[in-house]
Amino acid sequence: MDLKELLIKHNFRFNKALGQNFISDVNLLDAIIGDSGVSEDDTVVEIGAGAGTLTQRLSLKAKRVVAFEVDENLKAVLQDGLNGLENVTLVFKDVLRMRDAEIAELTDGVPFKVVANLPYYVTTDMVMRFLESRLDVSSVTVMVQREVADRFTALPATPEYGAITMGINIRGNAKKMRDVPRTVFYPVPNVDSAVVRIDTDKNKFDGENLPFISALAKTAFRMRRKTFVNNLTATFKVERAEAEAALAACGIQLMARGETLHVDDIVRLSRVLKQK
Ligand code: SAM
Repeated sequence: MDLKELLIKHNFRFNKALGQNFISDVNLLDAIIGDSGVSEDDTVVEIGAGAGTLTQRLSLKAKRVVAFEVDENLKAVLQDGLNGLENVTLVFKDVLRMRDAEIAELTDGVPFKVVANLPYYVTTDMVMRFLESRLDVSSVTVMVQREVADRFTALPATPEYGAITMGINIRGNAKKMRDVPRTVFYPVPNVDSAVVRIDTDKNKFDGENLPFISALAKTAFRMRRKTFVNNLTATFKVERAEAEAALAACGIQLMARGETLHVDDIVRLSRVLKQK
């Protein structure tokens, strides 16, 4: 049964507020799974199962799929479409409101890959929810709005570079895998999309003070028209002379703006300044 027939059969009404734009093109679904690097040994956490089209293709490729969906109106559609797939566990919950322990229990405590075609308004929160967690997440592959993909993967000193780019860079490495035109979704949304894969590297800054690094990174983008040193002295208990000396010790220009800094600059600075 194709996607539209399945939705009609169960009299499903789209909930726009939940960002429900579904994909039925099997070649595209398999391409997204290829981008994610999922293989037969992997447990996958899928967020936002929708009508289960991606879930179904994932079940053919992965060892196990734990698929989350917040909309209980999709229960009949999903149970019908995924009927008989024994390696799929459906969970009707809002992933943003779940504790790590609950997710770890559902995934039997094994490492997993996240794959998701997310509603645009939760993209950043959802990605950071997994990157910042203590869960054993090896990668996060997400379909996001094209502009968001550009922000996730931006280089320093470009307009797209921001706190979210650095937040991701602290915990992993993001790569844009493919552009996806709006026309492949049903219903067709107002924006184009792209698939981004983030390979986590939680040991990237092992032994460093990550909360302080994160706070410094946020400060770098607090007021974009101010110099970094101004933002720094305004946010932390640090005298101007000390801040300037720390910047000099890290090879950062005094007039530099936060948006020109690389994550390695922030890490060096965190070592010099220590916790403030
Ligand atoms: N994966 C399907 C596909 O590719 O066709 C559906 C993608 S659709 C863009 C996103 C889905 O995420 C919707 O079905 C929506 O109800 C669900 N969703 C939205 N917020 C969620 C949340 N916080 N937790 C779990 N699912 C969520």
